[in-house]
Amino acid sequence: MPVQPQGRASGQQAIEDETALAGAAAPPFPDADLMHIVDLLPPEEQVRYQEIRDFLQSRIRAASIDYWNREEFPFGLLAELGKYGLGGLQTDGTSKLFKGLMYVEVARADVSLSALVGIHNELIVGMIDQLGSEEQKARWLPGLTALTQIGAFALTEPDHGSDIAGGLATTARREGGEWVINGAKRWIGAGTIADFALVWARDVADQQIKGFIVETDRPGYTATKIANKIGLRIMQNADIVLDDVRIPESNLLPGATDFSKANELLRDSRAWVGWQAAGIQLAAFDVARAYSLERKQFGKELARFQLVQQQLAEILGNASASLSLMAQLARIQADGKLEMVQAAMAKSTTTRLARASVAMGRSLMGGNGISSDYEMGKLFGDAEILYTYEGSYEINSLIVARAVTGKSAFV
Ligand SMILES: Cc1cc2nc3c(=O)[nH]c(=O)nc-3n(C[C@H](O)[C@H](O)[C@H](O)COP(=O)(O)OP(=O)(O)OC[C@H]3O[C@@H](n4cnc5c(N)ncnc54)[C@H](O)[C@@H]3O)c2cc1C
Repeated sequence: MPVQPQGRASGQQAIEDETALAGAAAPPFPDADLMHIVDLLPPEEQVRYQEIRDFLQSRIRAASIDYWNREEFPFGLLAELGKYGLGGLQTDGTSKLFKGLMYVEVARADVSLSALVGIHNELIVGMIDQLGSEEQKARWLPGLTALTQIGAFALTEPDHGSDIAGGLATTARREGGEWVINGAKRWIGAGTIADFALVWARDVADQQIKGFIVETDRPGYTATKIANKIGLRIMQNADIVLDDVRIPESNLLPGATDFSKANELLRDSRAWVGWQAAGIQLAAFDVARAYSLERKQFGKELARFQLVQQQLAEILGNASASLSLMAQLARIQADGKLEMVQAAMAKSTTTRLARASVAMGRSLMGGNGISSDYEMGKLFGDAEILYTYEGSYEINSLIVARAVTGKSAFV
């Protein structure tokens, strides 16, 4: 962004000031990756990273704002994400770090779409690929990985959020060659637009929680969009009612016949939110830095005020800490050492920092910081969702503290 320096300094001091400002206008770290995390990728993944990042910034970032304001789903943009391979990150053999950095860059462009891409890869493609039958894989994976089909992950219920594992009330009853599903789900992302929902229900015969593929055009399935959200407004979250929905026996995921089987994937998806939190902070930094270099008060750019500089440095510090934590998480994940405690710590810590970062960005931009037209208002709302979903901040803190004390404080 071009900066028109105007200062009161004169002589050598002025030259030094202007030189420093020129440095600020063309920063040595234009991608805000001060810790050189992207350099950890192998060369071919660095090339793909740059290509997708450019596409996300040029095509998705600005275009998403109107959709966000209107709470409308951008089907055209989804198709473009598919063409760049973002529906197949779980199965295309890319490194954990690359997949994570993709989540970062999608979130940096639009957090709602990063929620869709993340849930899609971690919880839909991941579950079917690892827990599905050969028939289910053949039926769904080609469309899913191309992003021409999407699924919804239906776990949370109106009366059970944090206590879902013990409290889940949706039932599955086996009748002949069919399962009959009854219950209600809440907050289900893409619930109104998905081809199927991956529904978690309790088998009345053995009381185990099992995973079922429920096509959304089955009689008895109804989904109602939850409107007026303050964040993730593009993601079509839904209240779902399952009223005697009949599905064939073959729609049960054979690998998901008790809840513990899904735990590994739920651990990974918890960690995925940490990547989103890093991405939203980089977005907040991008927006705040650009604004501070453009907006003038008292005759000079906001970027020249010390208090503004401190806020920029704190946002970038938080973002870099989050990104570095997640890069290390990717390493232990690749080594097969990731446990729930690290995923919960990464999720709670990065979302706490993200909340602080967007609050600073909002304040730095004054009144314009509250408007989605200037992007920061959009990020401010979106951060709230990261803080709460995939286990609230408090629940993830309890998981960490239980692991390090041996004492459970849930009840
Ligand atoms: C926008 C959005 C998208 C979502 N997408 C999906 C989705 O696609 N699929 C899906 O299945 N779910 C989804 N969720 C649900 C999400 O995972 C839950 O909202 C979350 O787990 C919290 O549950 P709850 O909202 O019922 O809050 P509650 O469980 O009612 O908790 C309310 C508050 O009480 C606190 N609390 C609860 N128990 C304790 C305790 N023991 N100790 C201390 N504090 C406690 C919580 O931390 C929280 O602050 C989504 C939610 C949102 C908001």
